[in-house]
Amino acid sequence: MNEQGISIISFGYFEHAFLEKIADSVSREFMLPVQIREGHFDLSEYYDPARRQYNGNLLLKEVDAKYSSDSGKTFGLFYVDLFIPILTYIFGQAFLGGRTAIASIYRLSNERYGLKETDNSLKERFTKEVVHELGHTFGLIHCHVPACVMSSSTYVEDIDQKSANLCIKCRTQLLDQAIQ
Ligand SMILES: [Zn+2]
Ligand SMILES: [Zn+2]
Repeated sequence: MNEQGISIISFGYFEHAFLEKIADSVSREFMLPVQIREGHFDLSEYYDPARRQYNGNLLLKEVDAKYSSDSGKTFGLFYVDLFIPILTYIFGQAFLGGRTAIASIYRLSNERYGLKETDNSLKERFTKEVVHELGHTFGLIHCHVPACVMSSSTYVEDIDQKSANLCIKCRTQLLDQAIQ
């Protein structure tokens, strides 16, 4: 485990080049080393048969318990449909100011909404989602600057509207914390 670094753990198969691209973006945005690892869970334990989805709260806790350490941030990547009890679905979930976050690619593809897939939309959306949830682990809350990666997203269209970068205000907050 990297001292003060970020660990990205794939639960399920993701193309290596794809993971590298996410790791690059994350490393640049948070100015920290990123390592990619593989994780294994029996996902059936987190499956809710009534909703036919996977419980994001439980998965986040499980990643935190089994994979996280206090020396850095740990991010679990999933491909299954995640929910939390109060929402129909979630793109991702994080402990605010904590050490762990998760995200799923499941809801991010155009195909899911009957639209044509474009080359980069899926990768860009997933990268933004990872940066967003990681931002929460660094204590950043939702931002009102529309282009900021920390603005909240309910639909994939919302994700497409924002950049993969922190706005100046959020970046300043991140740097202030790093100094403290
Ligand atoms: Zn958020
Ligand atoms: Zn912001």
